[in-house]
Amino acid sequence: VEETLVLIKPDGVARNLTGEILRRIEAKGYSLVDMKLLQAERSLLAEHYAEHEGKPFYEPLIEFMESGPIVAFRIAGNRVIEGFRALAGTTDPTTAAPGTIRGDLGRDWGVKVQQNLVHGSDSPESAAAELALWFD
Ligand code: ATP
Repeated sequence: VEETLVLIKPDGVARNLTGEILRRIEAKGYSLVDMKLLQAERSLLAEHYAEHEGKPFYEPLIEFMESGPIVAFRIAGNRVIEGFRALAGTTDPTTAAPGTIRGDLGRDWGVKVQQNLVHGSDSPESAAAELALWFD
């Protein structure tokens, strides 16, 4: 069965939305395989976001992700990678569809980086690499 990495970003943890987000994942029928609360090191975040290095939002993104605890979930289910990204909604919370995590719970805070509550791996290759990075 397929697995993916979900992160509740520091805004989601700070706003006490961990339970609400996990509720949506479980209600959809995905299984929770592993979870942890951690303060991410810069080295971990640099590896996780290596593809964005050099972009204008890269440094604000790393600083945001370092700003408080993150919850990491390993979840499993048929087509869970695609399915979680559908649950999360598109990157910009202002225009993310109502019914999605970002569309229902997120908003634009007028800052340099989208504080959009969650991250989900976007392909089988990134899920494998990110699960190894965050859980092994
Ligand atoms: P999605 O692919 O649905 O956007 P993602 O989390 O995989 O979700 P990425 O494109 O990998 O998005 O970007 C990583 C994160 O960087 C985003 O979730 C968001 O927090 C931030 N980000 C991405 N693009 C921008 C942007 N143009 N302006 C501000 N922040 C951004």
